[in-house]
Amino acid sequence: MGFEDEIQQAANILASSQHAVALTGAGHSTPSGIPDFRSPGSGLWTQVDPMEVASIYGFRRNPQAFYDWIRPLAKQMMEAQPNAAHIALAELERIGVIKAVLTQNIDELHRKAGSQRVLELHGSVRQATCTRCGRQVPSADLWPAFVASGELPYCPACHGLLKPDVVLFGELLPMGVLLEAQDEAERCDVMMVAGSSLEVYPAAELPRRAIQHGAKLILVNYQPTDMDACATVVIHEDVAVILPQIAAKVKSLKGITSP
Ligand SMILES: [Zn+2]
Repeated sequence: MGFEDEIQQAANILASSQHAVALTGAGHSTPSGIPDFRSPGSGLWTQVDPMEVASIYGFRRNPQAFYDWIRPLAKQMMEAQPNAAHIALAELERIGVIKAVLTQNIDELHRKAGSQRVLELHGSVRQATCTRCGRQVPSADLWPAFVASGELPYCPACHGLLKPDVVLFGELLPMGVLLEAQDEAERCDVMMVAGSSLEVYPAAELPRRAIQHGAKLILVNYQPTDMDACATVVIHEDVAVILPQIAAKVKSLKGITSP
């Protein structure tokens, strides 16, 4: 335990907010067993350089190498379950406190936990697009067969190669989603960052934008970040430990009893 004062302070801020949003990153899903594939030591760096193999250039040059790289990650994402932090954010949305979840994660765990308004800045593994005809294919038609066989997935219509709808290194972010996220950052009065080290654009930029527009910042991340000094509340702990406690206190402040 620990951080009782900070947890209470975060709950007070959220309970009195008008439009709170959450911003989540890789640290939000590591308690669900999904490695941070951008971080050294995740195990996914030992064989290949993701900056090369998981870039759009690498995908075009050598799709087999890309798919070999993403195969264990895809398997983990298919099997992963939302953790207590995902469930806490979904609950905070259900009771009307959190209005949107902005996430860098592609694993769909916020949606699996029941979050409704999820802005996926780096896309998601939910579907794939044919690189030849543009047809969109749901993930159920892609991942289970691919994970089982390791064979490249092709479009059922034209036999073009499928590319998962995730943002690879060297690719632009989906513009509509980015604009919505920037709009949320500007209109929110509280932004709670959970499990992001705020090192990758646009996660690094969205909290600054929120603060410039008068929002308060709550930061829950295991490691210190560059934004710690700008935040009203900073908690260096596991999101799966802290977020359920914050959500419980918000509910109690709002007089909501758990079913
Ligand atoms: Zn096609």
